[in-house]
Amino acid sequence: MYTDLKDQLTAELDAIEQAGTFKHERVISTPQSGRITAGPVGRDGTEVLNFCANNYLGLADHPEIVAAAKRALVERGFGMASVRFICGTQDLHLELERAVSAFLGTEDTILFSSCFDANGAVFAPLFGAEDAIISDALNHASLIDGIRLSKAARFRYRNADLEDLRAQLEAAAALRDGKGARRTIVVTDGVFSMDGFLAPLPGICDLAEEFGALVMVDDSHAVGFMGETGAGTPEHFGVSDRVDIYTGTFGKALGGASGGYVAGRREIVAMLRQQGRPYLFSNSLAPAIVAATLAALELVEGSAELRATLFRNAELFRRRMSEEGFELLPGQHAIVPVMFGDAALAGRMADAMLENGVFVTAFSYPVVPQGEARIRVQLSAAHSEADIETAVHAFVASRAAVQG
Ligand SMILES: *Cc1c(COP(=O)(O)O)cnc(C)c1O
Repeated sequence: MYTDLKDQLTAELDAIEQAGTFKHERVISTPQSGRITAGPVGRDGTEVLNFCANNYLGLADHPEIVAAAKRALVERGFGMASVRFICGTQDLHLELERAVSAFLGTEDTILFSSCFDANGAVFAPLFGAEDAIISDALNHASLIDGIRLSKAARFRYRNADLEDLRAQLEAAAALRDGKGARRTIVVTDGVFSMDGFLAPLPGICDLAEEFGALVMVDDSHAVGFMGETGAGTPEHFGVSDRVDIYTGTFGKALGGASGGYVAGRREIVAMLRQQGRPYLFSNSLAPAIVAATLAALELVEGSAELRATLFRNAELFRRRMSEEGFELLPGQHAIVPVMFGDAALAGRMADAMLENGVFVTAFSYPVVPQGEARIRVQLSAAHSEADIETAVHAFVASRAAVQG
């Protein structure tokens, strides 16, 4: 009988609202881009500059990508109505897997409906009760959930802390009466999404080598734009061949629709095709998404220009905001946290920013540590220099309004 649960949920939802952590969605009525029309649920939107999408390369509404999707819709239909292994594999799926492998320099790649699913698939088939998984404390929720699905011993090290990673590797080596875990893997995000900080991959790879452990990087916030050719943080750090498992999303820089992958050593990918549960029991990626993602990869491979624009934009925004006296977390990544400390202040700033025509989002505890509330600005190659100057002016005006 629903009555009791209804009352309980109503009270819990009220409590979330009271705590100021209720997530109110804004409704966008244009393609995702640097400029969008957005407004609260049930009201007409206004045109705003968008500084909170993961649309790093501005490909979400790119004409060539839209055209590739249209072509595939006509030539290959809307959906596959099947999982991959029954009758859901088109030539396009294999082509995209080969293209991702070539792009990342890995032996093989397996597609998933999302990176959330890729991370949900990867651990259980590879790591059992005799094994150890060592995970960065700030890893993405999908890694945390995926790791929980395996029976391996779990260890967690403080964010990007190599000394603590060593301690956890030592703990894994003491398992099974000192014989050590059968298999040990160190798992990290390539870029931590709330800070824009990069994982210290060279140090992680050195420690993994010392302890005979594998390395896995979820590069969702880097694939397509970090590194010389856009292959991500392992390329950026020159450790590509020392990373055993890559996961990532097509839902951010690479067109932004959906889909994810596990790439890496041949036998690892082969095992996931046999036993990765989200691969075996969830539908194939739609052909239009596959074809459009192939087009996105081609665009990324064919030109360094988009990447250069993105980093120029990030650099300009960081410099201008610093000049205006805002406190930023340091770095080069296109995620630029503007720090306010107090959660209510960050929230009021985000509201004022929208009034001033710029869409940004505030994050506070528990998503970030207590007292470190921030607005996370994300730059895109879709922004012009004038857009960035407008955003900086909006920050200045909002600060005056909120503090005044
Ligand atoms: C965005 C993100 C994901 C989820 O990707 P989807 O394809 O949207 O499921 C997974 N891991 C990390 C690190 C991410 O940033």
